Amino acid sequence: MLPLSSYLIDSHCHFDFPQLDTIRDDSLARAHQLGIRQWVVPGVTAASWARIESSMAAYEGVFPAWGLHPYFIDQHQPEHLELLAAQLRRHPAVAVGEFGLDRMLSGELHWQQQLFYCEHQLQLAQQLQLPVILHVRKAHSDMLALLRRYPLPRAGVLHAFSGSHEEAKRYLALGFSFGVGGSISYERATRTREVFRQLPLQSLLLETDAPDMPLSGYQGQPNRLERLHQVLMLLAELRQLPPDVVAQQVTANTRALFALPPPSACPEAGKDTD
Ligand SMILES: [Zn+2]
Repeated sequence: MLPLSSYLIDSHCHFDFPQLDTIRDDSLARAHQLGIRQWVVPGVTAASWARIESSMAAYEGVFPAWGLHPYFIDQHQPEHLELLAAQLRRHPAVAVGEFGLDRMLSGELHWQQQLFYCEHQLQLAQQLQLPVILHVRKAHSDMLALLRRYPLPRAGVLHAFSGSHEEAKRYLALGFSFGVGGSISYERATRTREVFRQLPLQSLLLETDAPDMPLSGYQGQPNRLERLHQVLMLLAELRQLPPDVVAQQVTANTRALFALPPPSACPEAGKDTD
């Protein structure tokens, strides 16, 4: 396999999750060999932020986002929003997230809480002029309505986007990007594959969501950092473009969205051209 001329950035990786503890270093070494050099690591609960700070201290190339994820609504308290505002001001983050709306999680009370935390986090992104990392399932019309209410200066990314092409176009009009992950490895994901085949390449970012969202063939195992390269190859095949062309564009997209610096020199990954 020819080495890529561009390094890769994982735009969404739960690098700090305990499920990676036993495989993190091995997986990271493999990822490095494949040219993966930076990770955007979104927070999910107030308790997760300290874990991400430890990852940042221990590893190169880890860039944090701070947020409160709808999956963990039972762990959130309204005062965590104040802590989040303080965290975002104190510890430079590349985005607010991950947060969002998920209609697959049940109950009216749950939904009202989701809306409460989502609106507050959109307001924070607005005030601090940060992009957002959004988790949205079966709730695109709700999210698009909120985004019209709270227009964001820097938009953000729809992580693991699985909506329709029509929905994608509405986010695109607001300046959003889309996270492409392991879902495109599944033959049955026809609609998602088609959406990612058609959207402008300038709007796509690569992500693993590791240890979540394993690729086809690896179900039941924690997803690994090095699989980002496989996502790149699948996307290149889908777009019928050379992997190098796709790599250069998605890395440029990710750098621009999160205002990331170039990676620091690393002997394994060869030269940096920028
Ligand atoms: Zn995530």
